[in-house]
Amino acid sequence: MKIDPKTFVHDFQLNICIQCGTCTGGCPVKFRSPLNMRRLVRESYFTENFSSISKRPELWACTTCSTCSLRCPSGVKNVELIMGIRNFLANKGEVPSTIRDALENTLLQGNPWGRFRDRRADWAKDLGVKIFGEETSETLFYVGCAPSYDPRVQSVSTALVRIFQKAGVDFGILGKKESCCGNEIRRMGEQALFKKLAKDNTALFKKSGVKRIITISPHCYNAIKNEYSDLNIPVQHYTQVLADLIEAGKLNLSKRLGISATFHDPCFLGKQNKVFDEPRKILTSIPGCDYIEMERSRERSLCCEGGGGRMWAEGGTEGKRNGEIRIREAVALGAKTLATACPFCLLTFEDSVKTSGLSEQIVVKDIAELVGEAMEVV
Ligand code: SF4
Ligand code: SF4
Repeated sequence: MKIDPKTFVHDFQLNICIQCGTCTGGCPVKFRSPLNMRRLVRESYFTENFSSISKRPELWACTTCSTCSLRCPSGVKNVELIMGIRNFLANKGEVPSTIRDALENTLLQGNPWGRFRDRRADWAKDLGVKIFGEETSETLFYVGCAPSYDPRVQSVSTALVRIFQKAGVDFGILGKKESCCGNEIRRMGEQALFKKLAKDNTALFKKSGVKRIITISPHCYNAIKNEYSDLNIPVQHYTQVLADLIEAGKLNLSKRLGISATFHDPCFLGKQNKVFDEPRKILTSIPGCDYIEMERSRERSLCCEGGGGRMWAEGGTEGKRNGEIRIREAVALGAKTLATACPFCLLTFEDSVKTSGLSEQIVVKDIAELVGEAMEVV
Protein backbone atom coordinates (compact mmCIF):
# COMPACT_ATOMS: atom_id res chain seq x y z
CA MET A 1 0.00 0.00 0.00
CA LYS A 2 1.39 3.36 -1.02
CA ILE A 3 0.67 6.69 0.55
CA ASP A 4 0.69 10.04 -1.15
CA PRO A 5 3.66 11.69 0.60
CA LYS A 6 2.16 15.11 -0.08
CA THR A 7 -0.49 14.21 2.51
CA PHE A 8 2.12 14.20 5.22
CA VAL A 9 4.23 17.09 4.06
CA HIS A 10 1.41 19.48 3.26
CA ASP A 11 -1.46 18.42 5.56
CA PHE A 12 0.84 18.52 8.55
CA GLN A 13 2.63 21.64 7.28
CA LEU A 14 6.14 20.20 7.44
CA ASN A 15 7.11 22.60 4.66
CA ILE A 16 6.82 25.58 7.02
CA CYS A 17 9.10 24.18 9.76
CA ILE A 18 11.92 26.63 10.47
CA GLN A 19 14.00 24.02 12.36
CA CYS A 20 14.01 26.04 15.58
CA GLY A 21 13.82 22.90 17.78
CA THR A 22 11.22 24.31 20.19
CA CYS A 23 8.96 21.29 19.72
CA THR A 24 11.64 18.76 20.50
CA GLY A 25 13.01 20.78 23.42
CA GLY A 26 9.56 20.69 25.07
CA CYS A 27 8.81 17.03 24.35
CA PRO A 28 8.43 15.14 27.65
CA VAL A 29 9.49 11.76 26.25
CA LYS A 30 13.10 10.84 25.85
CA PHE A 31 13.04 9.86 22.18
CA ARG A 32 12.87 13.38 20.71
CA SER A 33 9.70 12.31 18.90
CA PRO A 34 8.86 15.49 16.94
CA LEU A 35 12.32 15.92 15.41
CA ASN A 36 12.81 12.26 14.58
CA MET A 37 9.34 11.79 13.17
CA ARG A 38 9.68 14.80 10.86
CA ARG A 39 13.08 13.57 9.73
CA LEU A 40 11.76 10.09 8.99
CA VAL A 41 8.74 11.43 7.15
CA ARG A 42 10.97 13.60 4.99
CA GLU A 43 13.18 10.61 4.18
CA SER A 44 10.11 8.53 3.42
CA TYR A 45 8.87 11.32 1.15
CA PHE A 46 11.57 10.37 -1.33
CA THR A 47 11.34 6.60 -1.00
CA GLU A 48 7.53 6.44 -0.58
CA ASN A 49 8.16 3.69 1.95
CA PHE A 50 6.71 4.31 5.38
CA SER A 51 7.05 0.77 6.69
CA SER A 52 10.44 1.46 8.30
CA ILE A 53 8.73 3.95 10.63
CA SER A 54 6.40 1.40 12.21
CA LYS A 55 8.99 -0.08 14.58
CA ARG A 56 10.53 3.24 15.61
CA PRO A 57 10.21 3.68 19.40
CA GLU A 58 9.58 7.44 19.13
CA LEU A 59 6.38 6.77 17.17
CA TRP A 60 4.76 4.81 19.99
CA ALA A 61 6.51 6.75 22.80
CA CYS A 62 4.56 9.92 21.97
CA THR A 63 1.89 10.59 24.61
CA THR A 64 0.01 13.06 22.35
CA CYS A 65 0.36 15.65 25.11
CA SER A 66 0.43 18.33 22.33
CA THR A 67 3.27 20.35 23.87
CA CYS A 68 5.11 20.28 20.52
CA SER A 69 2.15 21.56 18.49
CA LEU A 70 1.16 24.18 21.06
CA ARG A 71 4.67 25.64 21.29
CA CYS A 72 5.55 25.63 17.57
CA PRO A 73 5.91 29.24 16.34
CA SER A 74 5.05 28.16 12.78
CA GLY A 75 1.92 26.17 13.55
CA VAL A 76 3.35 22.78 12.52
CA LYS A 77 0.99 20.03 13.65
CA ASN A 78 3.57 17.62 15.03
CA VAL A 79 1.12 15.61 17.11
CA GLU A 80 -1.30 15.30 14.20
CA LEU A 81 1.61 14.07 12.09
CA ILE A 82 2.37 11.32 14.60
CA MET A 83 -1.30 10.34 14.77
CA GLY A 84 -1.41 10.40 10.97
CA ILE A 85 1.52 7.98 10.72
CA ARG A 86 -0.10 5.72 13.32
CA ASN A 87 -3.33 5.82 11.29
CA PHE A 88 -1.47 4.91 8.12
CA LEU A 89 0.16 1.95 9.88
CA ALA A 90 -3.10 0.88 11.60
CA ASN A 91 -4.75 0.70 8.19
CA LYS A 92 -1.98 -1.67 7.08
CA GLY A 93 -2.22 -3.73 10.31
CA GLU A 94 1.33 -2.71 11.26
CA VAL A 95 0.78 -1.76 14.89
CA PRO A 96 2.28 -3.41 18.01
CA SER A 97 0.27 -6.41 19.21
CA THR A 98 -0.72 -4.75 22.52
CA ILE A 99 -2.17 -1.79 20.63
CA ARG A 100 -3.95 -4.11 18.21
CA ASP A 101 -5.51 -5.99 21.16
CA ALA A 102 -6.74 -2.72 22.71
CA LEU A 103 -8.33 -1.69 19.41
CA GLU A 104 -10.00 -5.08 18.89
CA ASN A 105 -11.24 -5.11 22.48
CA THR A 106 -12.85 -1.72 21.98
CA LEU A 107 -14.59 -2.88 18.83
CA LEU A 108 -15.92 -6.02 20.55
CA GLN A 109 -16.60 -4.89 24.15
CA GLY A 110 -16.60 -1.08 24.00
CA ASN A 111 -13.47 -0.74 26.17
CA PRO A 112 -9.74 -1.21 25.46
CA TRP A 113 -9.23 -3.79 28.22
CA GLY A 114 -11.80 -6.19 26.78
CA ARG A 115 -13.83 -6.32 29.99
CA PHE A 116 -17.43 -7.49 29.49
CA ARG A 117 -19.73 -4.81 28.18
CA ASP A 118 -22.55 -6.15 30.38
CA ARG A 119 -20.50 -5.46 33.52
CA ARG A 120 -19.75 -1.83 32.70
CA ALA A 121 -22.07 -0.43 35.37
CA ASP A 122 -21.43 -3.01 38.10
CA TRP A 123 -19.56 -0.37 40.12
CA ALA A 124 -22.78 1.66 40.48
CA LYS A 125 -25.24 -1.08 41.39
CA ASP A 126 -25.60 -0.11 45.07
CA LEU A 127 -25.46 3.66 44.60
CA GLY A 128 -29.02 4.38 43.48
CA VAL A 129 -27.93 6.03 40.22
CA LYS A 130 -30.58 6.73 37.59
CA ILE A 131 -30.21 5.02 34.22
CA PHE A 132 -31.01 7.07 31.13
CA GLY A 133 -34.02 5.66 29.32
CA GLU A 134 -35.41 3.98 32.43
CA GLU A 135 -35.78 7.10 34.54
CA THR A 136 -35.72 10.63 33.23
CA SER A 137 -32.78 12.96 33.57
CA GLU A 138 -31.23 15.57 31.32
CA THR A 139 -27.65 15.52 32.61
CA LEU A 140 -25.55 12.57 31.53
CA PHE A 141 -22.74 11.51 33.84
CA TYR A 142 -20.50 9.93 31.17
CA VAL A 143 -18.32 7.59 33.22
CA GLY A 144 -15.71 6.36 30.72
CA CYS A 145 -13.76 3.08 30.55
CA ALA A 146 -11.15 3.31 33.34
CA PRO A 147 -13.64 4.78 35.88
CA SER A 148 -16.09 1.95 35.01
CA TYR A 149 -13.71 -0.99 35.24
CA ASP A 150 -10.52 -0.11 37.14
CA PRO A 151 -11.00 -0.73 40.90
CA ARG A 152 -8.76 2.20 41.84
CA VAL A 153 -10.56 4.66 39.57
CA GLN A 154 -14.00 3.34 40.54
CA SER A 155 -13.52 5.14 43.86
CA VAL A 156 -13.47 8.43 41.89
CA SER A 157 -16.71 7.50 40.08
CA THR A 158 -18.31 6.58 43.42
CA ALA A 159 -17.14 9.81 45.09
CA LEU A 160 -18.64 11.89 42.28
CA VAL A 161 -21.97 10.07 42.43
CA ARG A 162 -22.19 10.70 46.17
CA ILE A 163 -21.15 14.36 45.79
CA PHE A 164 -23.72 14.99 43.03
CA GLN A 165 -26.46 13.22 45.00
CA LYS A 166 -25.68 15.25 48.13
CA ALA A 167 -25.62 18.49 46.13
CA GLY A 168 -29.00 17.72 44.52
CA VAL A 169 -27.68 17.35 40.95
CA ASP A 170 -30.20 15.45 38.81
CA PHE A 171 -28.15 13.10 36.64
CA GLY A 172 -28.11 9.64 35.10
CA ILE A 173 -25.68 7.19 33.52
CA LEU A 174 -26.02 5.09 30.39
CA GLY A 175 -25.00 1.89 32.19
CA LYS A 176 -24.32 -1.03 29.84
CA LYS A 177 -25.15 1.13 26.83
CA GLU A 178 -22.13 3.38 27.41
CA SER A 179 -19.12 2.79 25.12
CA CYS A 180 -15.57 4.07 24.96
CA CYS A 181 -15.34 7.76 24.00
CA GLY A 182 -12.59 6.95 21.47
CA ASN A 183 -10.05 9.59 22.52
CA GLU A 184 -7.21 7.10 22.97
CA ILE A 185 -8.43 5.04 19.99
CA ARG A 186 -7.92 8.02 17.68
CA ARG A 187 -4.52 8.65 19.21
CA MET A 188 -3.48 5.03 18.72
CA GLY A 189 -4.20 5.60 15.03
CA GLU A 190 -7.59 3.94 14.51
CA GLN A 191 -9.45 6.82 12.89
CA ALA A 192 -12.20 4.62 11.44
CA LEU A 193 -13.04 3.07 14.81
CA PHE A 194 -12.94 6.51 16.43
CA LYS A 195 -15.44 7.81 13.85
CA LYS A 196 -17.74 4.84 14.49
CA LEU A 197 -17.61 5.39 18.27
CA ALA A 198 -18.26 9.13 17.86
CA LYS A 199 -21.20 8.50 15.52
CA ASP A 200 -22.76 5.76 17.68
CA ASN A 201 -22.26 7.68 20.93
CA THR A 202 -23.68 10.88 19.44
CA ALA A 203 -26.77 8.99 18.22
CA LEU A 204 -27.22 7.36 21.64
CA PHE A 205 -26.85 10.68 23.51
CA LYS A 206 -29.43 12.34 21.27
CA LYS A 207 -31.87 9.41 21.35
CA SER A 208 -31.63 9.33 25.16
CA GLY A 209 -32.50 13.02 25.46
CA VAL A 210 -29.16 14.13 26.89
CA LYS A 211 -28.97 17.91 27.36
CA ARG A 212 -25.65 18.18 29.21
CA ILE A 213 -22.66 15.84 29.61
CA ILE A 214 -20.29 15.63 32.59
CA THR A 215 -17.12 13.54 32.22
CA ILE A 216 -14.67 12.16 34.76
CA SER A 217 -11.71 11.85 32.43
CA PRO A 218 -10.15 14.83 30.62
CA HIS A 219 -9.58 12.41 27.72
CA CYS A 220 -13.34 11.76 27.37
CA TYR A 221 -13.95 15.50 27.83
CA ASN A 222 -11.55 16.31 25.00
CA ALA A 223 -12.95 13.78 22.53
CA ILE A 224 -16.64 14.43 23.18
CA LYS A 225 -16.29 18.22 23.36
CA ASN A 226 -13.81 18.81 20.53
CA GLU A 227 -13.91 15.82 18.21
CA TYR A 228 -17.57 14.72 18.00
CA SER A 229 -18.46 16.82 14.97
CA ASP A 230 -22.29 16.47 15.12
CA LEU A 231 -22.88 16.64 18.87
CA ASN A 232 -24.08 20.15 19.82
CA ILE A 233 -24.56 19.21 23.48
CA PRO A 234 -22.61 21.12 26.17
CA VAL A 235 -19.81 19.08 27.79
CA GLN A 236 -18.14 19.79 31.13
CA HIS A 237 -15.29 18.19 32.99
CA TYR A 238 -16.36 17.37 36.54
CA THR A 239 -13.94 19.96 38.01
CA GLN A 240 -15.90 22.68 36.20
CA VAL A 241 -19.14 21.34 37.70
CA LEU A 242 -17.72 21.13 41.24
CA ALA A 243 -16.25 24.65 40.98
CA ASP A 244 -19.70 25.95 39.95
CA LEU A 245 -21.37 24.08 42.82
CA ILE A 246 -18.89 25.60 45.29
CA GLU A 247 -19.56 29.05 43.83
CA ALA A 248 -23.30 28.47 44.26
CA GLY A 249 -22.79 27.37 47.86
CA LYS A 250 -24.16 23.88 47.14
CA LEU A 251 -21.26 21.80 48.44
CA ASN A 252 -21.06 21.43 52.19
CA LEU A 253 -17.30 21.12 52.70
CA SER A 254 -17.58 20.61 56.43
CA LYS A 255 -14.57 18.52 57.38
CA ARG A 256 -11.06 19.95 57.75
CA LEU A 257 -8.65 17.62 55.95
CA GLY A 258 -5.38 18.87 57.44
CA ILE A 259 -3.30 18.17 54.33
CA SER A 260 -0.68 19.95 52.25
CA ALA A 261 -1.47 19.36 48.60
CA THR A 262 -0.20 20.26 45.17
CA PHE A 263 -1.94 19.78 41.83
CA HIS A 264 -0.73 18.13 38.64
CA ASP A 265 -2.43 19.63 35.55
CA PRO A 266 -3.48 16.74 33.27
CA CYS A 267 -2.44 17.48 29.65
CA PHE A 268 -5.92 16.92 28.19
CA LEU A 269 -7.52 19.15 30.82
CA GLY A 270 -4.94 21.93 31.11
CA LYS A 271 -2.73 22.59 28.14
CA GLN A 272 -5.16 21.14 25.60
CA ASN A 273 -8.42 22.56 26.97
CA LYS A 274 -7.32 25.45 29.20
CA VAL A 275 -9.15 24.23 32.32
CA PHE A 276 -6.63 25.56 34.84
CA ASP A 277 -8.53 27.60 37.42
CA GLU A 278 -11.37 25.26 38.42
CA PRO A 279 -9.22 22.50 39.99
CA ARG A 280 -7.35 25.16 41.98
CA LYS A 281 -10.59 26.81 43.07
CA ILE A 282 -11.81 23.46 44.42
CA LEU A 283 -8.57 22.63 46.25
CA THR A 284 -8.30 26.07 47.84
CA SER A 285 -11.95 25.84 48.98
CA ILE A 286 -11.38 22.61 50.91
CA PRO A 287 -10.99 23.40 54.63
CA GLY A 288 -7.60 22.43 56.00
CA CYS A 289 -6.04 22.00 52.55
CA ASP A 290 -2.76 23.91 52.42
CA TYR A 291 -2.30 24.38 48.66
CA ILE A 292 1.21 24.61 47.15
CA GLU A 293 1.75 25.36 43.44
CA MET A 294 4.25 23.32 41.47
CA GLU A 295 6.89 25.15 39.51
CA ARG A 296 6.01 23.25 36.34
CA SER A 297 2.29 24.00 36.38
CA ARG A 298 -0.56 25.00 34.06
CA GLU A 299 0.75 25.14 30.41
CA ARG A 300 4.19 24.00 31.62
CA SER A 301 2.93 20.91 33.44
CA LEU A 302 5.09 17.84 32.83
CA CYS A 303 3.15 15.08 31.05
CA CYS A 304 2.73 11.95 33.23
CA GLU A 305 3.20 9.76 30.10
CA GLY A 306 -0.13 7.96 30.57
CA GLY A 307 -1.96 9.26 27.47
CA GLY A 308 -1.90 8.77 23.72
CA GLY A 309 -2.28 5.00 23.94
CA ARG A 310 0.72 4.64 26.24
CA MET A 311 -1.46 2.63 28.65
CA TRP A 312 -1.41 -0.13 26.03
CA ALA A 313 1.99 0.36 24.35
CA GLU A 314 4.94 -1.71 25.44
CA GLY A 315 8.27 0.02 25.99
CA GLY A 316 8.48 3.65 24.90
CA THR A 317 10.34 4.69 28.02
CA GLU A 318 14.01 5.31 28.57
CA GLY A 319 15.66 6.43 31.78
CA LYS A 320 13.64 7.80 34.69
CA ARG A 321 9.88 7.92 34.11
CA ASN A 322 8.14 11.28 34.21
CA GLY A 323 5.74 9.97 36.86
CA GLU A 324 8.64 9.41 39.20
CA ILE A 325 10.15 12.82 38.41
CA ARG A 326 6.79 14.42 39.15
CA ILE A 327 6.36 12.58 42.46
CA ARG A 328 9.82 13.71 43.56
CA GLU A 329 8.99 17.30 42.58
CA ALA A 330 5.85 17.14 44.74
CA VAL A 331 7.74 15.66 47.71
CA ALA A 332 10.47 18.32 47.39
CA LEU A 333 7.78 21.02 47.59
CA GLY A 334 6.66 19.63 50.94
CA ALA A 335 3.33 18.32 49.64
CA LYS A 336 1.97 15.20 51.29
CA THR A 337 -0.80 14.81 48.71
CA LEU A 338 -0.45 14.99 44.94
CA ALA A 339 -3.91 15.79 43.59
CA THR A 340 -4.93 15.31 40.00
CA ALA A 341 -8.16 15.07 38.01
CA CYS A 342 -7.53 12.34 35.43
CA PRO A 343 -7.77 8.53 35.72
CA PHE A 344 -4.56 7.98 33.73
CA CYS A 345 -2.59 10.47 35.84
CA LEU A 346 -3.96 8.83 38.99
CA LEU A 347 -2.92 5.33 37.94
CA THR A 348 0.46 6.44 36.56
CA PHE A 349 1.41 8.43 39.66
CA GLU A 350 0.26 5.75 42.09
CA ASP A 351 2.48 3.30 40.29
CA SER A 352 5.35 5.81 40.41
CA VAL A 353 4.94 6.31 44.17
CA LYS A 354 5.38 2.56 44.64
CA THR A 355 8.33 2.17 42.24
CA SER A 356 10.14 5.18 43.73
CA GLY A 357 9.69 3.89 47.30
CA LEU A 358 7.96 7.06 48.48
CA SER A 359 4.72 5.54 49.79
CA GLU A 360 5.46 6.81 53.30
CA GLN A 361 5.91 10.38 52.12
CA ILE A 362 3.12 11.14 49.67
CA VAL A 363 -0.28 9.91 48.52
CA VAL A 364 -1.96 10.45 45.17
CA LYS A 365 -5.64 11.43 45.17
CA ASP A 366 -8.16 12.56 42.63
CA ILE A 367 -9.73 15.93 43.47
CA ALA A 368 -13.15 14.22 43.60
CA GLU A 369 -11.92 11.97 46.40
CA LEU A 370 -10.71 14.97 48.41
CA VAL A 371 -14.05 16.75 47.95
CA GLY A 372 -15.84 13.54 48.96
CA GLU A 373 -13.73 13.39 52.13
CA ALA A 374 -14.41 17.04 52.95
CA MET A 375 -18.15 16.43 52.47
CA GLU A 376 -17.91 13.19 54.49
CA VAL A 377 -19.65 11.18 51.77
CA VAL A 378 -16.86 8.67 51.05
S1 SF4 B 1 2.72 15.26 21.58
FE1 SF4 B 1 4.02 15.45 23.42
S2 SF4 B 1 5.05 13.43 23.57
FE2 SF4 B 1 4.22 13.59 21.48
S3 SF4 B 1 5.91 14.40 20.25
FE3 SF4 B 1 4.66 16.15 20.91
S4 SF4 B 1 5.64 16.89 22.81
FE4 SF4 B 1 6.43 14.80 22.41
S1 SF4 C 1 8.76 24.13 16.83
FE1 SF4 C 1 7.78 24.12 14.80
S2 SF4 C 1 9.13 25.33 13.50
FE2 SF4 C 1 10.33 24.81 15.35
S3 SF4 C 1 11.40 22.88 14.79
FE3 SF4 C 1 9.49 22.29 15.75
S4 SF4 C 1 8.04 22.03 14.03
FE4 SF4 C 1 9.78 23.20 13.24
